[in-house]
Amino acid sequence: MSRAEADTGGHLFYQSRNPRPFLDRGEGIYLYDESGKRYIDGCSGAMVSNIGHSNPRVLAKMKAQMDRATFGYRLHFRTHPSEDLAAKTVSLCPEGLDRVFFVSGGSEAVESAVKLARQYALTQGLGSRYKVISRFPSYHGCTFGALDLTGYDPLREPFAPMMEGMPKITAPMTYLDRDNLTEEARGLKYAELLRDRIEEEGPENVLAFLMEPIGGASTGALVAPDSYYTRIREICDEYGVLLIFDEVMSGAGRTGKFLASEHFGVVPDIVVLSKGFGAGYAPLGAIVAPSRLVEPVLDAGGFLHGFTYAGNPLACAAGLAVLEELEEQGLIENAARMGDLLKAKLTGLMDRYPFIGHVRGKGLLLAFELVSDRETMRPLPRELNAYNRLVEIAYELGLIIYSRRTRGGYEGDHFLVCPPLIVTEAQVDEIIGLLDTALARFA
Ligand code: PLP
Repeated sequence: MSRAEADTGGHLFYQSRNPRPFLDRGEGIYLYDESGKRYIDGCSGAMVSNIGHSNPRVLAKMKAQMDRATFGYRLHFRTHPSEDLAAKTVSLCPEGLDRVFFVSGGSEAVESAVKLARQYALTQGLGSRYKVISRFPSYHGCTFGALDLTGYDPLREPFAPMMEGMPKITAPMTYLDRDNLTEEARGLKYAELLRDRIEEEGPENVLAFLMEPIGGASTGALVAPDSYYTRIREICDEYGVLLIFDEVMSGAGRTGKFLASEHFGVVPDIVVLSKGFGAGYAPLGAIVAPSRLVEPVLDAGGFLHGFTYAGNPLACAAGLAVLEELEEQGLIENAARMGDLLKAKLTGLMDRYPFIGHVRGKGLLLAFELVSDRETMRPLPRELNAYNRLVEIAYELGLIIYSRRTRGGYEGDHFLVCPPLIVTEAQVDEIIGLLDTALARFA
């Protein structure tokens, strides 16, 4: 099949018509298409490729596993890569999060967390608890269960009649607030929305609260005031509601700590990982939970859940090699350092481009938002299609960034700039240089 055929629709179909060139290869933070054009992967794909592309040490470890076995069904065998990856993951997580369950992606992981919470509640005689409160905006995945927990209307609307309609509270997008409160007070105000919602739904019905500790595509790297996290934890404890942190995007070192929640000193009951956990070397996800939740479920007959490909030795060997790379190359520390530098330089661009309304995020989970007016944070008109236009200009220049126009309630065009954690100071300058040119063309 020629490229022209693929452009107009070959046999494969995507979410929409796909005019992109064929990928030839990747190397570090760079990707090359078949014509030889080089791109900086300025958003690690979809915030996935945390250790960069084609890391030779990871590939060698995967090859070694491939030579032994690429699959062994978990009902027939345990495997060392999966046990070793679980041990390594636990060693990187806060104390108490000591049990791991593997899956192959983020949506699967989110649903696994919710199902573990539900089965745990049943073991405690709390069968009435089934509602999971999440936030708006948010993104937790595309499968029905995860989609029902996602606060992003365009993706939900066609399927709304087919879902329960789990309750949502507003995420603390405090940078849009024009009140006289301190950030601390705003954090508390938004956290109280959780208490109100639990009361409204009936505490005896509420199983869990699910949130991204630092937002991803939905809110564009939203960081809440510190007070928000502490109060959320307190409210969950008070009502016996399990706190689930979706760290699919923010976890595995991206924000300068292994888990984003470590920035806020709050330990959730269940953590959800994917994306950077396999870092693009294998489809991989996991939930990490304490034994106090897992043991009663196993004692009661087992976790009624599981996917065929979950925990397969090749994916786990890749995941283990990725975590070893994070540790051995000091990539989490590099994410913190390069994140500060990149954020400062993005903020610097605000002097030149008044339509950059806000720069936010932690480590290398960073975003900027475009607005009509910085004072009021009024969004750009939808017809301008800014989220698409700027990305296309950057792509032409050889810089890939990730954008979203969030709609329904909150409106805004934001752009995630999240290179692999191996990025160097010179490469940060390269990214900023290309972005500067793209913004000048966009203006
Ligand atoms: N949760 C978060 C925070 C995400 O960012 C994503 C994907 O973008 C998901 C869950 C779903 O992951 P997947 O696309 O691997 O199913």
